[in-house]
Amino acid sequence: MVGGDTIATSFVQFWQNNVVPNMSSIVLGTVVLVLVILVWIIKDTSRRGANTLVWAVFTVVGLGLVPLIIYFLVRDPLTIDDHMTDKLNTDVLRLERSYYAFIMDERDKKCPVCGHETKSTYRYCPACGMELRTVCPECGELLETNWKTCPHCGHRIEQREMKGDLA
Ligand SMILES: [Zn+2]
Ligand SMILES: [Zn+2]
Repeated sequence: MVGGDTIATSFVQFWQNNVVPNMSSIVLGTVVLVLVILVWIIKDTSRRGANTLVWAVFTVVGLGLVPLIIYFLVRDPLTIDDHMTDKLNTDVLRLERSYYAFIMDERDKKCPVCGHETKSTYRYCPACGMELRTVCPECGELLETNWKTCPHCGHRIEQREMKGDLA
């Protein structure tokens, strides 16, 4: 079994040793061209997440130009960096949205009696003891006083249960 490199080398040697000098410079030019395209394709395929090995072999076998043209037609228009940037932008947007949702959720949560800051997880005001929220008689989760249905278990809240006292 003779490797591709050996064939290429003996091919070059054959031309270098047996053909007129300007012919051998044409071959040398082709080899350089293939090498330049090869280096470029290896860089570009790894930037775009394409199969570098397949394209490298194809470039050598196809003598550079034709594989290069085919590569231009089929390559991913976005580099891995572009994909990363896209994903990053989406992540940042999602983070911003949840941040604002958190801010909206946390702001204006002050005790209506004493004005002390409270959180959405508090049932009673930590300063004055005012009952800020009730609990669902079905699942025991905190409920806003104006809610008609428990968002945790779907329990319909009757008016008499709104006091928050569990049996
Ligand atoms: Zn209070
Ligand atoms: Zn419930």
